[in-house]
Amino acid sequence: MRDPGRVVIIGAGPTGLAAGHRLHELGHRDFLILDGRSVPGGLATSYLDARGFTWDVGGHVQFSHYEAYDRLLDKAVHGGWIEHRRSAWIWFKNRFIPYPFQNNLGHLDEEDRHRCLEGLEAANKGRPNAEPRNFGEWIPRTFGTGIAELVLTPLNLKTWGYPLEWMGTSWVGDRVAVPDIERIRENIRSGRNDDGWGPNQAFRYPKRGGTGAIWKGVAALIPEEHLRLGGYDVLAVDAHARTVVCGNGSVHPWDTVISTMPLDALCRSISDLPTPGRRAAGELRHSAIHIIGIGLRDGRPSALDQKSWMYFPMGNSPYFRATVLSNYSPSLVPEEPGHWSLMCEVCESPFRHVEGDTLVAEVIRGLREDGLLPVDARIISTWHHREEYGYPTPTVGRDEAIRVVMFELEKRNIFSRGRFGGWKYEVSNQDHSAMAAIELVDRLLLDKPESTQRG
Ligand SMILES: Cc1cc2nc3c(=O)[nH]c(=O)nc-3n(C[C@H](O)[C@H](O)[C@H](O)COP(=O)(O)OP(=O)(O)OC[C@H]3O[C@@H](n4cnc5c(N)ncnc54)[C@H](O)[C@@H]3O)c2cc1C
Repeated sequence: MRDPGRVVIIGAGPTGLAAGHRLHELGHRDFLILDGRSVPGGLATSYLDARGFTWDVGGHVQFSHYEAYDRLLDKAVHGGWIEHRRSAWIWFKNRFIPYPFQNNLGHLDEEDRHRCLEGLEAANKGRPNAEPRNFGEWIPRTFGTGIAELVLTPLNLKTWGYPLEWMGTSWVGDRVAVPDIERIRENIRSGRNDDGWGPNQAFRYPKRGGTGAIWKGVAALIPEEHLRLGGYDVLAVDAHARTVVCGNGSVHPWDTVISTMPLDALCRSISDLPTPGRRAAGELRHSAIHIIGIGLRDGRPSALDQKSWMYFPMGNSPYFRATVLSNYSPSLVPEEPGHWSLMCEVCESPFRHVEGDTLVAEVIRGLREDGLLPVDARIISTWHHREEYGYPTPTVGRDEAIRVVMFELEKRNIFSRGRFGGWKYEVSNQDHSAMAAIELVDRLLLDKPESTQRG
């Protein structure tokens, strides 16, 4: 077994915790996890508000691609799981269309259905030889102008907050359902709801404590002496002296760094990173996320009884997605009967300004307009949470920028992984992030190759 020496792990989110757990599992005892926040879990933390509602930082569900990840979760969560079948919808012109929209055109009115089908057929016939240069071109070329203009372009603008021409296409893989026109026609003929697409059609959720219970559980598997939480936000990484300096003034020596802090911020914290690496890191783009939780009593529309989440392409509301969070587990709302909860996600970016002070009111107005919040539903709690780093934007030059940065970092024995450590949206869920950490530790100690997130 190789010896990575003293390992400092920056961040106690899923990636950092999975790295620490794996080091410990393999018998490596010389490591320390540092985080500025006092609770482990990062973006996968859950918060209990003053009125007894539990909130996640956006709709977090578990649909793993990896057995090792599932085993880790089973070991960490003692309260049991609730298994769900996804019930996802698009709210379009005052009706719910099953997700994915493009497979369920039979639900549209005659005029829109015709427009979508015509666009799809034209796109199918007239495929140009050259590849689309960006996501903005890819959407109408793949789905036709009807579906693009009615739903996919506005929804993606609302979700990402960047011009779609800035975004590449290498990430779309299993994140966007590419249409099969024969299947779509057959769905229209048979009146079938074709809602089974995608990796998250079945998912599980902890019975108690929200998503955060998982990562509190993983943290508890790591002996306390390896965890430094609260005040241990890394401000500077010195690659010559091989130390990190934290906001509370503490200094920690290292031989190897596993960083899960945002890659651009990590590069800024290394004073002597050469210009190509620094420049490449400066090209990375991200959006912030606002989570608005609405805790309710009574008046839940029956249309929401079974729903998991809904997408909102229309311009009347600020949110791109709303989750009926109380449907994930009854433990997320107070015990007395009648309580339920809605959680909305709003993107903020340099191109999409969000007025923080009035956002909750705007969300409530939108939910009322969209029929999700009837007047007899009593709002008894609201919760507003903002994360500066919400979505790593898959921009056109992203892959090359990451390659350049990772090369410079690894020369210095600094390995960056995770949602914003790796900056690859398509492999930035909890399972990807945790597996990237496990694979990295296996590479450092066992010389095994990485596959999930290597830059
Ligand atoms: C809206 C939304 C919805 C999502 N939905 C899902 C889903 O349904 N399913 C799913 O699997 N995943 C989902 N995710 C992704 C999931 O949150 C991430 O996969 C996971 O949190 C990534 O873990 P991480 O450790 O890489 O990063 P993070 O969770 O961001 O953790 C990083 C940690 O590093 C710490 N840190 C940052 N800077 C420093 C510093 N300078 N010094 C010390 N510590 C630092 C932070 O405090 C944080 O604790 C979603 C994310 C968002 C935002």
